[in-house]
Amino acid sequence: MPLEIIRIPVLSDNYVWLVHEPQSGETMVVDPAVSGPVLEEADKRGWRIAAIWNTHWHPDHTGGNAEIKAATGCTIIGPEAEHARIPTLDVLVKEGDVVSLGTAKAHVMEVPAHTAGHIAYHFPREAAVFVGDTLFAMGCGRLFEGTAAQMFGNMARLAELPAETDVYCAHEYTQSNGRYALVAEPENAALIVRMASVDLMRSRGEPTVPTTIGLERATNPFMRARSVEELAARRAAKDAF
Ligand SMILES: [Zn+2]
Repeated sequence: MPLEIIRIPVLSDNYVWLVHEPQSGETMVVDPAVSGPVLEEADKRGWRIAAIWNTHWHPDHTGGNAEIKAATGCTIIGPEAEHARIPTLDVLVKEGDVVSLGTAKAHVMEVPAHTAGHIAYHFPREAAVFVGDTLFAMGCGRLFEGTAAQMFGNMARLAELPAETDVYCAHEYTQSNGRYALVAEPENAALIVRMASVDLMRSRGEPTVPTTIGLERATNPFMRARSVEELAARRAAKDAF
């Protein structure tokens, strides 16, 4: 059975993902920026949050940890390399570890650069990946604690996942990313078509994520950068865009 994945929009542009595995009835939440809307959404569905999975330490990804744990007694899982900066963590994970949600199994991928210990959770069988702030629709995370070379490696690894893999990123940055992407690749026909659709969706107030690995391969100027230097130049240009 596929995972049930609920998008919870919070703060100005964050998405928290509530994930339910129907066979076991287990529920977890990825990167709860806040607690209130997450607990409400779970309650409404009759789901009990058994775990929080964090991708990195930033407060807009971990701010709800303590209150959700106090309310539910859940276990908090996150990157070993950031344990000092996420004091609420119970279980530390690293590259190659497998984390279970009922019968669904996610592989931990270390994708440093946005933060030094950033991880992603990839469910191969369910064809889903939770990427935090590493990969966005037509964008990538800012390089706060890492290098363009690391981000280039992250993009290459993520691009190798099957095209149909759904990509759950943590922000609605798509339209702004797409405007820059059109500057980076003005002749990219797939990008032009995608942006027309994104503009329409945003004009109606609709979300544009999840995306897919296939769509990002075709339209994401960071995943499509041919060298570390090109990714670095594009990241710098986007930062100033
Ligand atoms: Zn972040």
